[in-house]
Parts: sequence; structure tokens; C-alpha cells
Amino acid sequence: MARETSDFNGTPNANRLHISFFGRRNAGKSSVVNAVTGQDLSIVSEVKGTTTDPVKKAMELLPLGPVVIIDTPGIDDDGQVGDKRVAKSYQVLSKTDVAVLVIDNFVGPAAEDLELINLFKKKNIPYIVALNKVDLDMESLMTGEDGDGEEQYEFPTVLVSALTGQGITELKEKIAEIAKPLSTDKRLIGDKIADRDVVVLVTPIDASAPKGRMILPQVQTIRDILDNHAISVVTQVAELASCLNALKEPPALIITDSQAFHQVKGIVPDSIPLTSFSILFARFKGILDTAVHGARYLNQLEDGDIVLISEGCTHHRQCEDIGTVKLPGWIEEYSGKKLLFEFTSGGQFPQELSKYALVVHCGGCMLNEREMVYRQGLAEEQGVPFTNYGTLIAHINGILDRSLEIFYE
Ligand code: SF4
Repeated sequence: MARETSDFNGTPNANRLHISFFGRRNAGKSSVVNAVTGQDLSIVSEVKGTTTDPVKKAMELLPLGPVVIIDTPGIDDDGQVGDKRVAKSYQVLSKTDVAVLVIDNFVGPAAEDLELINLFKKKNIPYIVALNKVDLDMESLMTGEDGDGEEQYEFPTVLVSALTGQGITELKEKIAEIAKPLSTDKRLIGDKIADRDVVVLVTPIDASAPKGRMILPQVQTIRDILDNHAISVVTQVAELASCLNALKEPPALIITDSQAFHQVKGIVPDSIPLTSFSILFARFKGILDTAVHGARYLNQLEDGDIVLISEGCTHHRQCEDIGTVKLPGWIEEYSGKKLLFEFTSGGQFPQELSKYALVVHCGGCMLNEREMVYRQGLAEEQGVPFTNYGTLIAHINGILDRSLEIFYE
């Protein structure tokens, strides 16, 4: 059974396995999605191309646990609008941990299906092909090479019928099987602290903080500290000195919001390890080394260079927004160069990056690891340095090396 989870109480989407369903129009893709999830996630219709935008939903899916299911538009859609829909389906690949390609077993694979399978292989995306509508195809089933008709293709298949439910349990088990090696016990900070260590978190509550709650990176860090039976102490910058004085012993670590780095470094003695939430997340998302290299590139910028500042979601921009106002100011001041800045947010990360001298990405707390590694990989392929907000700010404040010590000791 699948169960929908709430945005605020469930596992963050970025930490969920992203399972995407692809297929040609009328392969029965949305029906298979609904059969797998046990609910009407997608509109099912006899009319070709009913799914016009990727449909995304977070849920608990047994035996997998917390997942995000994505139903994509048909990969054979045509015309100008159809081309855009196909492009949207292909964009979903960048965040896909496991792909399910649905093919009408009665029709067999078409060129678009084979092209997609090649892309799965090229991008190292584990995949399974669901041969749907086997209820229509009993005759070929009976004459299959080993009686189950699965030997005729060179790709992994499972026979299903979204209509009767045949093979759906097996499909879920296959998805779980290929997803298993992807599960990780990676920790945000839990592997760097010990039982009963005191960790102080510095979290400014300013105009850009959401009303009445903490932001996701802070909540996830607190949870990781608690999971490790360490002690989490949360304070604002103004109370940090009092907080340190109130502790019997210096804390094992201080983790600060990147924007408060310059104030915090003036309060925290050099003997106490100090890092930031953004650096934690860069490591968690597998891009820390690249981000460090990219931050150091700031010293090589030239007048007229274009810097891309990219955010992973489209949250409401406050005045003095860090990405569009503060960062450009800090970068120009530090580099002493007259630069041009371009901005993107949400899913609009450009494919073509070669005109940029540097890409500065947010912490990406709303993006899964595969998407962050994909964005970093695009920049790398095109020879463009790539960093993130916190790593860059640590470099600008002259404490990058100190912020990294805890990870490289
Ligand atoms: S802009 Fe980036 S770091 Fe900020 S909330 Fe969105 S994904 Fe997370």
C-alpha cells in the first residue's frame, strides 16, 4: 500500500528515492503508476498524451519506504507543444534514481524506448522495463521462450497488467531490488561527532527566516545530531557569546548559517571547530571537493566575466535576498572586478554553461543528490568552476580551510 505523506512531517523529498515512470503515449504508463502506488496519482484516459507535465508525489511505498513517484509526459509526443513535453520528460532524468519504462507488450519497443534505455545506461540510472497489457497478449505469453515471454529482449523486463494487477507486486519487488545498492547510511554530521558531544547551531532569525519555524537544513542537522545521541544547542548570533559562556566546556563543534560567518568567526575561538550548514550539505550531496575548488576560483575572475547564481527552488524572494543582492555584492567586493550576474531558480538550470566564468549554486536542500551531482557534472563537462553559497562565503571570509578541518582531519 502507498501512503501519502505531508510536506512538513514526512521525510524531506531530497532524501527520498526518486522513481520516474517513462513511456510512449498509450503504453498505459499512468495506469501502471496508479497500480504501483495504489492510488489515482495520474489521470488515466484513452486519449493519447493525457499527462502533459511531470506529476510528482511523495509517498511511502512498500517495500521501498519513502519515495517520490514521478509520472512523465509521453516520450513520443509530437508538434511544438509535444516537443516541449518530451523535453520535460528528459529533464526528469537528472533527478531520477530509478527509472521504470512502460512499454505496451502488444506493440513492443519503439525507437524512442530504445533511445531512452541507452540514456539510462549512459547516465548510470538503474532501470526496469514494465511490459504492460499482458492481459491482451495471452497468446504470445504462451509461446514465449521460457513460458514467461521475458527472454526476447536484451533489457530487464517484468510482465504486468495495470488492468488486472498481474505482475505489479513483482514490478515493485524488482524496483526495490535495483534500488537497494542506492541506499546509503551517509550522515550530515553524525559521523563526525560522538555520543554526548555538544554541538552549537547558530541560526539567525532575520527578515528572510520563515515565520514560526526553522528551515529544512537546520531541522535535518538537529535530527542528525539527536540520532547520534549528541546534544544540540541552538542560538542566534547575538546570544552566541553568552551561550558559550554558559557551557561548562567548549562545544565539540559550531555550525553556523553561512550569512553569519563573519560575525561568528569573531566570537568563536580558533580552538573550537567551526563549519556551516552549506558546507555540511555540499558534503552530503557529494559536491564538496568541487565546491571548494570553485570557491577558490573567485581569485581568478576577470572584469566582464559572467557569474551564474542558481537556486534549487523558487522560494519567495525577500528584499536583500542572499542570492540576488548580497552574494553579487560580496563577490564583486572580494574580487575587485566588475562582473555580470545571471540568475536561475527551480528546475531552470541551463544546459549550456560555457559562457559562465563561475556557477554559484545554493545549498540545494530541496534537490536530491543525483540532481546536484548532475548540475555539478554539467559544469565540469563544460570546464566551468562550480561552487555553493556557503563554501564561497567561507572563502570570502577567510575561513574556508577552518570550515573544512572537521572533514579532512
Ligand atoms: S534556494 Fe536552495 S538552499 Fe534555499 S531552500 Fe531552495 S533549494 Fe534549499
